[in-house]
Amino acid sequence: MTLPPPSPTLVAPYAAREETSRGRRHPEAPARYRGPYQRDRDRIVHSAAFRRLEYKTQVFVNHAGDMFRTRLTHSLEVAQIARTVARALRLNEDLTEAIALAHDLGHTPFGHAGQHALNECMAPYGGFEHNRQSLRVVDLLEEKYPEFPGLNLTFETREGILKHCSPRHAGALGEVGERFVRGGQPSLEAQVANLADEVAYNSHDLDDGLRSGLVAIEDLHGEEGFAEPYAEVTRRWAELPLRRVIHEVVRRMIDGQVTNLIDTSRGRIARADPRSIDEVRAATLPLIGFDHEFRTRHLRMKRFLRKHLYRHEQVRRMTGEAQRVVRELFDTLGRELGLLPPSDLNRIRELEAATGAEGRARGVADYIAGMTDRFALAEHKRLCRPTNP
Ligand code: MG
Repeated sequence: MTLPPPSPTLVAPYAAREETSRGRRHPEAPARYRGPYQRDRDRIVHSAAFRRLEYKTQVFVNHAGDMFRTRLTHSLEVAQIARTVARALRLNEDLTEAIALAHDLGHTPFGHAGQHALNECMAPYGGFEHNRQSLRVVDLLEEKYPEFPGLNLTFETREGILKHCSPRHAGALGEVGERFVRGGQPSLEAQVANLADEVAYNSHDLDDGLRSGLVAIEDLHGEEGFAEPYAEVTRRWAELPLRRVIHEVVRRMIDGQVTNLIDTSRGRIARADPRSIDEVRAATLPLIGFDHEFRTRHLRMKRFLRKHLYRHEQVRRMTGEAQRVVRELFDTLGRELGLLPPSDLNRIRELEAATGAEGRARGVADYIAGMTDRFALAEHKRLCRPTNP
């Protein structure tokens, strides 16, 4: 007798359920031991794009120091936070984890600086958005299966990956882009993964900023979200070394945000009382969120990091250089496709045959977006800086 795969945990009626899934684009027999969302998660973890996250920047360029977060450790932290919230709200933990692990698969090298540069290069051809690119990776670019391109993930995981999308591009994405045209929400699991992303990067970018010395404790006295736990920790442990103080403060910041997220979302879910995932999708507003006080704190911290870290002179110098590398790679490779590895060249030729210059540019952008920081730097050195005779 074949037993069906065990249900992840007892999920609430408003959670994503395997039996109400909208399924995969290419029909497949169910896995023997795993449910569909577990299978999605495993496909993501085994993908090449996931492995490359190890060498992609979060804020600091990958080789700036081994202690800083990368996109890989960021994605793991997001998944941990998201699973905690999902379990507390009786959501589908497997789906939440799959979305969290996949959410940054489409990120370019050099973090937001790289994405900004690639978006500029692609401006005449529909632009470049990392959320759309993450979907492109799992739908088309991974080459793992004989019978279909991409990873053939379930609708619910793909819906969660496409966190934002401009309405003018959403139309071309079919069912998964519909909510950006007609309005509506994604699953609660997607909403949780989205906010877990924000909790994770706000907290760990602050931690990395302090570690790097670019942000000083004194800068943070006006930030309630930091100042409150900092006062508590230094009052209780007066002699504690700074490193441990920072860890304890960041831990308390994450805990406070997670608790607020769970409590606030529980209240909103109880009031809206959705009976199914489709009722969640039909809602005008998301049900997962912080209360007003924590939302304000959160936005203040975001602004603080933008001013003191992301726009710090030293970070800007790195990102300026990174943008130049991306732009020059795009120009050079776009001009001379023959410099590309044969498999990529074939793919780009196919895109070019289908949609002309736009397809050609999109193919080059796919190739550059897939690069790690260090590979982009090495290729730039090799291709864009010919040695003087
Ligand atoms: Mg992220």
